[in-house]
Amino acid sequence: MPPKADINKAGWEQSEFPILCETCLGDNPFVRMSKQEYGRSCGTCARPFTVFRWNPGTGMRFKTTVICQTCAKVKNVCQTCLLDLEYGLPTQVRDTALALQNEAPTSDINREYYAQNMEGKLDGNKSGLDSGRASSAGKEMLKQLARTDPYYKRNRPQVCSFFVKGECTRGTECPYRHERPVNNELSHQNIQDRYHGRNDPVAHKILSTHADRQGLKPPDDTTITSIFLSSLSQQSTELSIRSHVLQSLPSVQPTQIKSVVHVAKSRCAFVNFKERSVAETAAQAWANGLEIDGERVGIKWGRSRTGIKAATPPQTQLSTEFS
Ligand SMILES: [Zn+2]
Ligand SMILES: [Zn+2]
Ligand SMILES: [Zn+2]
Repeated sequence: MPPKADINKAGWEQSEFPILCETCLGDNPFVRMSKQEYGRSCGTCARPFTVFRWNPGTGMRFKTTVICQTCAKVKNVCQTCLLDLEYGLPTQVRDTALALQNEAPTSDINREYYAQNMEGKLDGNKSGLDSGRASSAGKEMLKQLARTDPYYKRNRPQVCSFFVKGECTRGTECPYRHERPVNNELSHQNIQDRYHGRNDPVAHKILSTHADRQGLKPPDDTTITSIFLSSLSQQSTELSIRSHVLQSLPSVQPTQIKSVVHVAKSRCAFVNFKERSVAETAAQAWANGLEIDGERVGIKWGRSRTGIKAATPPQTQLSTEFS
């Protein structure tokens, strides 16, 4: 559970404590925070907010809050790492699994207006997320992906740039890490994209790895853009399938679906997308199944006609391979 923030009636301006995940807070129960009112403008809504700075543990690097409390509450994320407070995951992963619509506006004026509006709507610790409609398959997926234990390694100091060049003379006194740089999962990403949950390479990796594990690895034949649904409800129709599909993929437009071919007799359907990337998005979102008309339906990638032939290599090829 995330630490409870001290939320007072006046709202974010006079916040006494930031909204943080356990990892960013660190393992020291007596952590001392320095606080600067209106210290910086929020990384997402651009309004000035109370900035907190603290050391999350011995030998760790100082952390600061980068977005305001209103923005954090709207998305239920940590003010410092921007990961979801409940699951410890990027918002893009959470929102994909729960089929949450990204409503937060992006232009400066709208952002400020929106943040003010949301501030009025938020009360107590309630977040701005409406996940009431979330499917059980989506929640299951999040439980499987969730990082529930604090991950203090993330708080380590930055890699020493002098050491990398072979020039650091500070030796063991150097406060930075003396090791080869690895691509940190949270580096090189911008706050806006991570907050709004779009074009997030970390989220994409998590989602695609999970889909692979669930048996939904995208076929090598990139002309395949269909997803096969099985065990459909007897009540399902082409229309109900189409509307459930769209509801579960808030980022997909109706025009991106080429067709839905329902075979009522065998209670299955093909959802044909126009683009491969959209089919991949669907496979990721449905990695734990999809609910249509009260029924959890099976998900598989479609197969191309030529793909069936290619799947059985000719006998001659086999014998050379194993000789
Ligand atoms: Zn903000
Ligand atoms: Zn955090
Ligand atoms: Zn150094």
